[in-house]
Amino acid sequence: MIITDFKNIKTNYNLAKLTTFGVGGDAKYFLQTDDIEEIQSILKFCKNENLKFKIIGGGSNLLISDDGYDGLILKIDNKNIHIDNNIFSVGAGVLLRDFVNFVIKNSYVGCDFIFGIPGTIGGAIYGNAGSFGGDISNIIKSVRFINSNSEIKELDKKECKFFYRESIFKHHDFVIFDAKFDLPKGDVNAFKKIMLERIKLRNSKQPWEYKSAGSFFKNVEINNDIRKNLENILDLSKFIDNIPAGFLIESVGLKGFCIGDAQASEKHANFLINKGDAKAKDIYNLAKIIKEKIKKEYNINLKEEVQYLGF
Ligand SMILES: Cc1cc2nc3c(=O)[nH]c(=O)nc-3n(C[C@H](O)[C@H](O)[C@H](O)COP(=O)(O)OP(=O)(O)OC[C@H]3O[C@@H](n4cnc5c(N)ncnc54)[C@H](O)[C@@H]3O)c2cc1C
Repeated sequence: MIITDFKNIKTNYNLAKLTTFGVGGDAKYFLQTDDIEEIQSILKFCKNENLKFKIIGGGSNLLISDDGYDGLILKIDNKNIHIDNNIFSVGAGVLLRDFVNFVIKNSYVGCDFIFGIPGTIGGAIYGNAGSFGGDISNIIKSVRFINSNSEIKELDKKECKFFYRESIFKHHDFVIFDAKFDLPKGDVNAFKKIMLERIKLRNSKQPWEYKSAGSFFKNVEINNDIRKNLENILDLSKFIDNIPAGFLIESVGLKGFCIGDAQASEKHANFLINKGDAKAKDIYNLAKIIKEKIKKEYNINLKEEVQYLGF
């Protein structure tokens, strides 16, 4: 068998258009599918042929190299969504926006913290996406995926090892296919009001007018060492558990700093934005300079929330 026997396979497929940064080169092979058996077969093929693979969802948390990816990119197109009592079964390819709309339409509530986040259910589970103090793990019951032996498996919420922007899926080559969510019925109008307020807040604080992947770095958890290192340099009194990465970037004078068309946004320094014609290399180098400066000034290793692909 050769890879082109998979009937929907594309070669030298440009990935920039599938990302919110709008940068990146070609995938050597690209397959978009909603067919679980096809996913199992292609994973088996990859294993047998020693072909590397990666998954793309909505491309809103990815920085893809200008050189692209010398392997297979899989896009999981499972957009099934249905509800049985209060349990929602949702495909990995469903956009968070469409999921929230479906929840509201059926008079359910309780997922306001994923409203306004771009991307898909698969990507959100992978990185445990969230905002305003909640994350997607709050409402997950279980996740179904295909493992590297092409077997279909299911993990319940506890087994997914969720914590701040982390899950078991970040540490294995698992392909998320769908998930079950548990949501309550509630006051849909009050729920809509909260979401509208949050959209306004996002628009006022974040540069949505530019291409980006949201917050580039994770916020920094405050521990005793960090508090001791920084107490005479920075005023941390307004932070309880975490120091926002944007605050640190601003404090070292890099808010607004540019490399080519890549910039640490003037509006929110942790949003690295593509002002028009940035290359992936520019964004990557900007992130590198920020990390080096924060390390030098504060001895803190900033960790990326954004995932690198092809670097
Ligand atoms: C303007 C803006 C605002 C944002 N605000 C927030 C926010 O408030 N909170 C937040 O948490 N994030 C935010 N983000 C980041 C991003 O939207 C989330 O991380 C989102 O969950 C990524 O989902 P995605 O489908 O786009 O994943 P992608 O970017 O396509 O992929 C991200 C990672 O998930 C993996 N992945 C995707 N699908 C699957 C699958 N089916 N199986 C296995 N792995 C998979 C990919 O391999 C990759 O490593 C923001 C982004 C933008 C552009």
